[in-house]
Amino acid sequence: LFIQFAENEKVKAISHVAASLAHEVRNPLTAVKGFLTLIREKPLERHKLEQYIDISIDEIQRTESILSQYLSISKPLSTQREQTEMSNVLQVIKDVMTPFANMSNVQLEIDKPAFPVWILANQDGIKQILVNFIKNAIEACSDIPKANVSLRLKVEAGHVILVIKDNGIGMNADQINRLGTIYFSTKSSGTGLGLTFSYKVIRALGGTVSVQSGPLEGTVFTITLPMLEK
Ligand code: ADP
Ligand code: MG
Repeated sequence: LFIQFAENEKVKAISHVAASLAHEVRNPLTAVKGFLTLIREKPLERHKLEQYIDISIDEIQRTESILSQYLSISKPLSTQREQTEMSNVLQVIKDVMTPFANMSNVQLEIDKPAFPVWILANQDGIKQILVNFIKNAIEACSDIPKANVSLRLKVEAGHVILVIKDNGIGMNADQINRLGTIYFSTKSSGTGLGLTFSYKVIRALGGTVSVQSGPLEGTVFTITLPMLEK
């Protein structure tokens, strides 16, 4: 039953993200349509023509990659653990969540580590967990001027540490205590399942989650996972 709830939450989280992706996909479509219209209307110099075609191909490739990453995250999760490289994961999270951040007027900063960092975990599961935390962080920033959300990765004593920080509304002590408990949500359309699911998976991987927050002080979530030495 829990898995079913978790799946429902996943579908819901992903459908909000899908709305912002649909928005993002319209821009390149409009650009490509514009170039095709220009090309059809009148004869163009060779170099102009090539320029329009190159921009169109770039736009289509970018759209294609955003969509395929989105599809890999939204498919049903497997619990199969695999060797997962984190810079690659962070790049995908950045590509998938930037449209949602832009739509929400939030600056999203995700720095990839300069070297490969490996963990033993289902790759799509880790992506889904990070989407949950980042989505919450972005939602906590609505109506906050200069809203900023960041995801950073550090390596310390054989552990991978992921820090998700926002300067949003924050939480009081009671809310902090209830984090990760099923159905706890302060949102009108929230489910309170995203963190329940995420905490469960992180603990199953031998990891921990800690939180620092205060009303109007923003929030910092710190996820620690065992690093895979290679
Ligand atoms: P939902 O997002 O559907 O409400 P979650 O399990 O993802 O459910 O989150 C549970 C609750 O935890 C949220 O409703 C919110 O009150 C609180 N929360 C989670 N992350 C943050 C954050 N970054 N800032 C403030 N509150 C948060
Ligand atoms: Mg959530």
